[in-house]
Amino acid sequence: MSGAWRRTAAGAGLLSASGEVAPTIFAEMSALAARTGAINLGQGFPDQDGPDVVLEAAREAIARGANQYPPGRGIPDLLAAISEHQQRFYGLSVDPDREVIVTAGATEALAATLLALIDSPDDEVVVFEPFYDSYAAIIALSGARLRTVPLRRPDFQPDLAELAAAVSDRTRIILVNDPHNPTGTVFSAQVQQEIVRLADRHDAIIVTDEVYEHLTFDSAHVPIATLPGAAERTLTISSAGKTFSVTGWKIGWVHGPAALITAALTVKQFLTYVNGSPFQPAVAVGLRLGEDYFRGAASAFADKHALLGDGLRAAGFTVSPPQGGYFTVADATALGGADAAAFCRELPERAGVVAIPLSAFVLPEHRDDYAGLVRFAACKKREVLEEAVERLGSL
Ligand SMILES: *Cc1c(COP(=O)(O)O)cnc(C)c1O
Repeated sequence: MSGAWRRTAAGAGLLSASGEVAPTIFAEMSALAARTGAINLGQGFPDQDGPDVVLEAAREAIARGANQYPPGRGIPDLLAAISEHQQRFYGLSVDPDREVIVTAGATEALAATLLALIDSPDDEVVVFEPFYDSYAAIIALSGARLRTVPLRRPDFQPDLAELAAAVSDRTRIILVNDPHNPTGTVFSAQVQQEIVRLADRHDAIIVTDEVYEHLTFDSAHVPIATLPGAAERTLTISSAGKTFSVTGWKIGWVHGPAALITAALTVKQFLTYVNGSPFQPAVAVGLRLGEDYFRGAASAFADKHALLGDGLRAAGFTVSPPQGGYFTVADATALGGADAAAFCRELPERAGVVAIPLSAFVLPEHRDDYAGLVRFAACKKREVLEEAVERLGSL
């Protein structure tokens, strides 16, 4: 019996050679930060909690007894709030009863969607590389094949010819992450249109991870589902953790055509069944906050990225300024960081800062293409970022 699970988990790259659970680079680097007292700009969790009214709503929900299983799809008030939010910000109409489910974070939405929609080992999932670490793991667990399209400097936009070459009749899903982690890129209108055209031509489903939808710095976020012909084949995923700085709450959602949502729900009900009873009404309060909250969050992040970017440049890094999200990517080659993985392992000792090499987000065979690049999290207080860039200045 153990042989069987070992084969499955090892095949998915989830076990280390010694048969232990392979620690993620984030866990390894967070442990290093804790051990050395370094400032942790590795893992992307905010060091300040979200808006008070949202936190208070969760406390109230516990006090009034929202402590048992919520409905399988999510509480009606949150489903309604998600529907209102999509209409208000993007003009998307979402039927709260049939076209959306609440999940245990965006992570479960991705897992349930991929596990539900992959039919056969011949199915392919097209992913933009570098990619968020759970993508490859879930694709492996689903049994599908991973096809990558590279995102390269300077702007990290995919090449349209390479994108077209990756999509075929074997493509079941095109998995998009926009705004993109780790590169901070926001896909151009042309790229979005090409994704929709290819999905339509090859009858693929678009799954789009938009957890940074409210953190764009140059322009308003455009969900791919708003493009002509896209909504009927797109599942859109969001995370309250990212939007309201409550990553530990693990409330996310996915919306799209009813048949696809039903498929995702059939898997979701056996992953977690439900989660976060008292957090669901609180997230509904958050989604109904005024423009000022959402605009304020984006501009606060833009300022933090500017501070971090200036400091990194002054320290000798070459910075790729992000258009959205939690992270700034910088090239450490001029600082002797041509091997960013080694550079990041030494950085806590050398400068008292933890960061993540971009090689952690790519397939082993593509690591050399991203060798000198490092990801720094900007989701920290200003004074923490100021201290971090001062320390990096000593390099
Ligand atoms: C943080 C993150 C997630 C996970 O979101 P949760 O709601 O915490 O599960 C998914 N995708 C990307 C790109 C992320 O950065």
